[in-house]
Amino acid sequence: MDLERRRQYLEAIGIDLWVARGAPPLTAATAVCATPATAGAASAPATATLATATQSTATQSTATQAAAPVGAASVVRPPDTSVESAALWETLRAEVRTCTRCPLHSTRTQGVLGVGPQRSDWLVIGEAPGAEEDRRGEPFVGAAGQLLDAMLRAIGLDRKTNVYIANVLKSRPPNNRDPKPEEVAACLPYLVRQIALLEPRIMLAVGRIAAQNLLGTDTPLGRLRGRVHYFGERSTPLVVTYHPAYLLRTPADKRKAWEDLKFARSVYQQLTEGSHGHRS
Ligand code: SF4
Repeated sequence: MDLERRRQYLEAIGIDLWVARGAPPLTAATAVCATPATAGAASAPATATLATATQSTATQSTATQAAAPVGAASVVRPPDTSVESAALWETLRAEVRTCTRCPLHSTRTQGVLGVGPQRSDWLVIGEAPGAEEDRRGEPFVGAAGQLLDAMLRAIGLDRKTNVYIANVLKSRPPNNRDPKPEEVAACLPYLVRQIALLEPRIMLAVGRIAAQNLLGTDTPLGRLRGRVHYFGERSTPLVVTYHPAYLLRTPADKRKAWEDLKFARSVYQQLTEGSHGHRS
């Protein structure tokens, strides 16, 4: 992605870039975010765990070291056109749409499975559908969704081509309250099936609820950022950042979210370079 377009995307997110007069041309590695970072991360006790989740043990790296070279953020994988895959997706979609495994089914409009190519290297996971998502049947379509799209575009990702977006919970909790442990426990098997079909190379957990539930921890979000965690039986690398709804309320932390995105991109690029950009 050229730097001018990246600058435009970052401006859309609300992050201003500046360079000193007489400085060399701007590169991704030298870009400086002028937005001050003052607010802390949200934190609260975890609500549930996933038996197959693996706690973070991996290579540690700081987000600020991770300004990777500008380049394609993701390999676009060919769709799995097999009849078997199509049938599994349709079964999953139908089950979620009509699911009654937990009490949330009685207050939602519809279960919301996710959006994006059905084989994606990137999987973004949020908390649960909000009011607009519940109505339209697609995750992240309100103001927070627009910010998420802008954030993803800044690293070359687009829900139409190379990133799948889903939530931990498939049904909206009333008044957007935090999910209850039993609701998360009832719903997580759907996400596990989704991940088995998608086979993502990297996961980006947005927000405290998603991160803590996926990792089975009550560690504050601020301490989960800036390092690689691993999720599930496939040990998929997982990076944590802020939820866009939080960033709308706390724009001072957009700079930190941008560092997280650069870090995630660098992790992905290392993964693909290690396998020459291809997967079996
Ligand atoms: S939140 Fe999940 S488990 Fe609960 S009704 Fe919705 S789809 Fe089913």
